[in-house]
Amino acid sequence: MITNAISEEATRLAASGSLPAYVYDLDALRSHASAIQAALAVPGAPEVFYAAKANPDAPILRALAPYVAGIEVASGGELEHVRSVLPDARLAFGGPGKTDQELVRAMELRVERIHVESPYELKRLSELAHTSGRTVDVMLRVNLAGDRAGAALAMSGPFGMDPDLMELCRPILAASSSIRLRGIHAHLASGLDAKDMVKQSSEILRWGRAWLDKMGVAHPEFNLGGGMAVDYGNPSSVFDWPTYGRSVAELAGPDETLRIEPGRAMSVYAGWYVTQVLDVKRAYGEWFAVLRGGTMQFRTPVTKQHNQPCVVLPHAGDGPEVTDEPVTLVGQLCTPKDVFARQVPMERIGVGDVVAFSMAGAYAWNISHHDFLMHPKPGFHYLDTKA
Ligand SMILES: *Cc1c(COP(=O)(O)O)cnc(C)c1O
Repeated sequence: MITNAISEEATRLAASGSLPAYVYDLDALRSHASAIQAALAVPGAPEVFYAAKANPDAPILRALAPYVAGIEVASGGELEHVRSVLPDARLAFGGPGKTDQELVRAMELRVERIHVESPYELKRLSELAHTSGRTVDVMLRVNLAGDRAGAALAMSGPFGMDPDLMELCRPILAASSSIRLRGIHAHLASGLDAKDMVKQSSEILRWGRAWLDKMGVAHPEFNLGGGMAVDYGNPSSVFDWPTYGRSVAELAGPDETLRIEPGRAMSVYAGWYVTQVLDVKRAYGEWFAVLRGGTMQFRTPVTKQHNQPCVVLPHAGDGPEVTDEPVTLVGQLCTPKDVFARQVPMERIGVGDVVAFSMAGAYAWNISHHDFLMHPKPGFHYLDTKA
């Protein structure tokens, strides 16, 4: 569903020849984040660290900051960027394959929790901390097997440690005077609804408590990951934060701290990729609308293999149009993969019309291969009544 603010901005940008563009509705982002914050204001409910990799755009980070407890970064690049945009934010640093240089920067830039992904990484971090005379606070990232049926993406592979590998961390921790073990981190799947997310959280807690018990960790922390479901086929069905917050709070022990790190479910709704129809034609019985720009600027529908939801805003043009037909929306790239949405039932679409794709606020511009074919870059615009 498009708001007046977005359609007015889209029309304005079309009139000034400024499409394609990303339009971020920071007001909508604030009210969404505020609703999540309210749903998690239950004693025992997890604190939120926004996963910057979903969308690290500076105005997005600044708009979210008041509503989250901290930010999770997944690389040295994100770390430098987020620290410069939010000098005082609490940070957690995760991700496989951290370099020595990244680990040192994490300590220098006051990362509060480092999520360690292997015994070798733990050993290196211990030595680097020792050399620089620091003590570093660590969460160990575990990758639990188990049934992830229903998940859009199960994080199997090189992420974190399986329970056998976790055992190799015990002697390293016992021998290290520079590492403080704080708890367990687990990000196991993405695309889970509230009920499945609660089930997974309880599984992580059960396993993590037993593991930490043997280490004598006081006030243990559990980072239960991100991956809250987003439904591109039904944009109005959002993750049930109140149910999740209430149910997870009930799982928390009195001296435990729970944390989550959602990305997509926080920022996806605030972004729009707005563009314009350049051509309409029929090929072998199928109707196509060719749009300015393409998936090199908005890769989400290609990676997710879905139809990106969109709204067509009529705009006077004297070119071809089509009525009452399914239409496939493509971009300007010379590849059949450059598809935003296939066979979308259209009342009417014609040259000059503005097409506004919703749910473009996460894993969109920042995962796209911008330079492919060297088209001009999109503009970036922010709706922000607080500015
Ligand atoms: C990507 C990622 C997240 C965020 O996942 P979303 O699906 O965007 O919520 C959180 N934690 C880790 C470790 C990740 O890799």
